[in-house]
This record gives sequence, structure tokens and C-alpha cells, in this order.
Amino acid sequence: METNKDVVIIGGGLAGLAAAIHLSKMNLHVTLIEKSSYPKHKVCGEYISNEILPYLKWLDADVSELKPAHISKFEFSSNDGKTASAILPLGGFGISRYSLDDFLYQKALSNHCRIIKDTVIDVSFKNDLFTITTSSQILTSKIVLGAFGKRSNLDQVLNRNFIHKKSPWLAVKAHYSGTTANDLVALHNFKGGYCGVSKVENNVINICYLADYATFKQYKNIEDYQQNVLYKNKHLKSVFKNSTLLFDKPLTISQISFDKKQAVENHILMIGDTAGLIHPLCGNGMAMAIHSAKIASESILDYYSNKEMSRIILEKKYSKEWKKHFGKRLFMGRILAQILTHKNITNILVAITASFPGLLPIIIKQTHGKPITIK
Ligand SMILES: Cc1cc2nc3c(=O)[nH]c(=O)nc-3n(C[C@H](O)[C@H](O)[C@H](O)COP(=O)(O)OP(=O)(O)OC[C@H]3O[C@@H](n4cnc5c(N)ncnc54)[C@H](O)[C@@H]3O)c2cc1C
Repeated sequence: METNKDVVIIGGGLAGLAAAIHLSKMNLHVTLIEKSSYPKHKVCGEYISNEILPYLKWLDADVSELKPAHISKFEFSSNDGKTASAILPLGGFGISRYSLDDFLYQKALSNHCRIIKDTVIDVSFKNDLFTITTSSQILTSKIVLGAFGKRSNLDQVLNRNFIHKKSPWLAVKAHYSGTTANDLVALHNFKGGYCGVSKVENNVINICYLADYATFKQYKNIEDYQQNVLYKNKHLKSVFKNSTLLFDKPLTISQISFDKKQAVENHILMIGDTAGLIHPLCGNGMAMAIHSAKIASESILDYYSNKEMSRIILEKKYSKEWKKHFGKRLFMGRILAQILTHKNITNILVAITASFPGLLPIIIKQTHGKPITIK
């Protein structure tokens, strides 16, 4: 058995990797355990808000090296093809998870983080110490960060509330070649879901949609579903008809839950989707994952540098900060998702936002943060 006095991070997506880079930059010993290899494609719209750029710069992770698409405009269409558009208040960039996660992984390695490719199968807490069991070894650590994403075997192990409920959502994503505007992120509504279209690096188009499982299962395959449901929106029909699939087949995930989660469970500080998943229509999950890594890392650094700070205070402080930064965004995301599942209300929303162009940026601001400040 091995004791790590500093931090063990479970999961090496954006949240886990950002925390690993932050904590190692501040000279903590970091062990990160990730079950998959890098690089890897992930189901994600791959549009990231610029709010995280100051923090990525502080982490010495300059994403401009990856030549992302720069995105400044937003277009929204209803199922019957009506559109509203806006300039994005902060703007953002398009980068594939294939490139971004690998880029952060390389950065974490160069910061001397220890990265283990393995699956964590259990984590328990006793006598102020965690025991982390993977499929091949046992580690101990004083602090554990849970960065294992929206749905993991560990949610079952920890008996988290949301895992017992069936979720009606599934998602489909693929990369395409074709012609869409470089600086635009579009959100197209269709019956039972919505679809994001935007560019990533190398002029590649990302098409990623969230669909309700009940409607989806009525069709024999993805192609059949897209033609019969998504193509009802003329903008989506045109995007698909004018694009060529670059993957062998689209990636899919199911059982996506937007239920409330706790930011601290069984003394583990949860970051990224493990603490709460915002509806993808907000295009803010990645920025939130990276931002939550910053908040958790700062709380841990306070805990290790301040002998007076108890574990209870650490947990309360982190939960409070998490809620302050992300509580309202998640709430707004749930409301907007409710609106998009009602055809008539969506049509009214598109009509109003098309007539009052100042309104859409205000709505977008409710689901986004401000540029992250560095202490
Ligand atoms: C359909 C869809 C579209 C989206 N579009 C956007 C968008 O355009 N913009 C945006 O900002 N956000 C978007 N999001 C949200 C965004 O993808 C997530 O918020 C983001 O990926 C969260 O990062 P994370 O690090 O928390 O989780 P992840 O990136 O999922 O990382 C979790 C990691 O944990 C690992 N893991 C899990 N269990 C274990 C275990 N037991 N042991 C070891 N490793 C483990 C996994 O392999 C994984 O690598 C979208 C989400 C969905 C579902």
C-alpha cells in the first residue's frame, strides 16, 4: 500500500487535468488516475467560452497553439426554421476534445504529475484518510478529487442519488467536412432535442445533438432518426446534406442526467460534471469543469497551508464557492431546456429574440460566467 500525502484525482477529463496542472504548479504531489488512453474523441459540442482563457494562461496552457476556431456569433433556430441571432457577449473557441484533453495531459506530465492508466473501482474514507482501489493497486491519500465525469461506475459505488433514476437523454456526435461559417455556433431545435453545429480546429465541423430516448427508439438507426426528425428543421437538413462524415460512425452516449448532485460526497471534492452537469445548449460545461478545478485547487492549497483549517471547513468552503459560481447557471440551463422541449414556447422565444436583438445576449449571460480572475 502506498501513501500519497497530497492529492489523488480520479478521472482525467478537463476538470481532472486542470486540477492536476494547477496543484502540481503549486508544488503539490499529484496522482491522477484515468481509465482511458489519450488522445480520444468524446461526445461534446466542443465550443468553449472565452471566460476560461485567463486561467488557462495562468496554467501555462496556451490553447492558441492548437489553432482553435474563433467563434463570436450565435444563431438559434426553431423546428419550423425561424431564426434569431446574436453576437456572443464573451465569445469562445472551437477545439476538439481529441486535441484539448491530450494537450492538457501532456502539460500535466511535464509538470511531473503521476498519471496512472487504470479504473478506480472503489474509494473509501476512514481515520481521515482515503483508500483508493483500482483494478490493479491500492493507494491512500489525504485528499481525493472526484473528476470522473457525468456518469461513472463510482456513482454506483458511492450510491449517489441521481444514479438510481433513469434519464431520458442520449447524445450523438461526429466530425464532418463541409462548409459552415468559421465564427458561428448554431443551435438548431428539433422535436425532442437540439443540435449544436460549430467548427473546431483544421476546418472540421462538429455536429452534436441531445435527443430524447423515447422518440429516438422509434427509428431503426441514427440515419433514419436524423432524416425523419432532425431534417424537419430545414437548417439541420441543409447542414447534414452539405457535410461528409469524417468518423467511421457517430459516437453515442445515453443516460445523461441533469439532476442535482452534491459538490462534496463521502468527503470527496467533486469537480466538473461529477459535481453537476449543465444542459449542453448553454455551451458552458467545459468552462465550468475547468473553473471548478480552479476553485477546488485553491481550497486544497488553503487547507494544506493553513494548519487551523479543518476538513469540515474545507468541504463547507468548497461547497459554498461551487454553489456561488455555478448554482444559478445550472438553474437557468434547466429552464431553457424546458422551453426547448415545448414547440410553441420555442417558437415564441425565437420570435421575441428575433424582434429584440438585445435579449439573446442577456439570456446567454445568465448561463455563462465572467472571465476568470486569478488571485
Ligand atoms: C451532448 C453534449 C454536448 C456538450 N457540448 C458542450 C459544448 O459545446 N461546450 C461545453 O462547454 N460543454 C459541452 N458539454 C459539456 C462538457 O462535455 C462537459 O461538461 C465536460 O466534458 C466535463 O468535463 P469533466 O472533466 O467533468 O468530465 P469528462 O471529460 O467526462 O472526464 C471524466 C473522465 O473520468 C474518467 N473516468 C470515469 N470513471 C473513472 C474511473 N472509475 N476511474 C478512472 N477514470 C474514470 C473518464 O474516462 C473521463 O476521461 C456537452 C455535453 C454533452 C453531453
